[in-house]
Amino acid sequence: MKRLLTIDDDGHFFGLIITAIAAPMGFACEHVRTFEAFKALLADDVAVIMVDLMMPGVDGIEVLRYLAEQQCRAGILLFSGADGRTLVVAEEMARELRLRVLGRLSKLLVRDDLEEFLRQEDDVAMPALKLAAAAPIITAEALRNAIAEKQFVAYYQPQIDIQSGRASGVESLVRWQHPQYGLVYPDDFIATAESCGIIDQLTWMVVDQVFHDAQHFATRGWVPTLSINVSAFSLCDLKLPDRIMASAEATGIAPERIIVEITESGMVQKVAPVLDILARLRLRGINLSIDDFGTGFSMMHQLKRIPANEIKIDKEFIGAMTHEHSAEVIVRKTIEIGHELRMKVVAEGVETPEQFQLLKKLNCDVAQGYLFARPMPANALLAWQDEATAVGLVA
Ligand code: C2E
Ligand code: CA
Ligand code: CA
Repeated sequence: MKRLLTIDDDGHFFGLIITAIAAPMGFACEHVRTFEAFKALLADDVAVIMVDLMMPGVDGIEVLRYLAEQQCRAGILLFSGADGRTLVVAEEMARELRLRVLGRLSKLLVRDDLEEFLRQEDDVAMPALKLAAAAPIITAEALRNAIAEKQFVAYYQPQIDIQSGRASGVESLVRWQHPQYGLVYPDDFIATAESCGIIDQLTWMVVDQVFHDAQHFATRGWVPTLSINVSAFSLCDLKLPDRIMASAEATGIAPERIIVEITESGMVQKVAPVLDILARLRLRGINLSIDDFGTGFSMMHQLKRIPANEIKIDKEFIGAMTHEHSAEVIVRKTIEIGHELRMKVVAEGVETPEQFQLLKKLNCDVAQGYLFARPMPANALLAWQDEATAVGLVA
């Protein structure tokens, strides 16, 4: 199978679109958000590479330079949410670097063009790519193996109830404890897990582990709410509500403690079954949270349709709100809207006391971020709680 590798820092939504178009054309699609992960996956069997030109941290031009150094012969598609001018300049540059450019795409008008470009790619023979030492670690096979070997670990980040100052909840954030490469972060493997069809297994592993760890927390007298990130793909699984309930019952977790976090982009997918599943989760008493609020499409529309009872304001806005007026307005108004709709409002990515004070003033309900703790394994979390209480960081 021909591999199609995309590097794009944006949410999973664009990756899902690409997969929807390219998979039926015989491409195995992989999507990474960081340059490191991209390098790790690059190999001579990659037929097509899609590069986002506008990424914070690493720019697309740097990626093109790297590909030229590697004498990469894959067909390259450039895309960007930004203006067409940047794309034209980048394409000129890529050609000068002697890369094989298939074309450029606007993120908004992707479908027809992408099909057309990939069709051209059908009969092109693939000259070998000379790669340095980079080992491809994030393949479907490696992920399957990691599941079998139980290498995925749930890390937890505490959530602080702003009024009481108590650690009232935890969000689970999955990590891959790789035997050779150490800790691998979800941004580098979730999209691949989704496109190669093992995301459901991963979701179940995380759910089971979180409930299991929660039993352990309870023996210490702590019963936090349990937030779990669920992929858009798993939200199409009609068995999801019952499986969560069965797992919760087996471990004695009340459904009211469970918060399923869904991203807005996830809700745009296959809308009908997703809405059905979300409704069933709510009927069983499980809470629903709209994650990364503010970064997706038509969020007001989603708010109206989705039976969610929590909003998580994306860290992008929290990080900017103490020095950018527009970010502060967005945070303030989101809190107001959430409360009017009887939703709990959570701020993620709280890093400074100034941000925390402002959130308190704005009546935000829950805060989560490096100011309190980084995500950590279950045992470390219990130790953190003791210490944080002792020094008065939390009540
Ligand atoms: P997210 O749900 O938006 O999670 C928040 C991310 O921000 C996490 O990155 C977290 O470690 C990071 N973070 C927390 N506090 C701060 C802060 O104060 N400052 C900054 N700059 N960052 C902070 P992480 O753990 O790398 O997870 C990335 C994304 O991967 C998550 O974004 C979530 O969408 C996804 N993810 C994580 N675990 C799972 C999972 O079990 N299943 C699925 N489907 N997706 C998951
Ligand atoms: Ca989340
Ligand atoms: Ca986020």
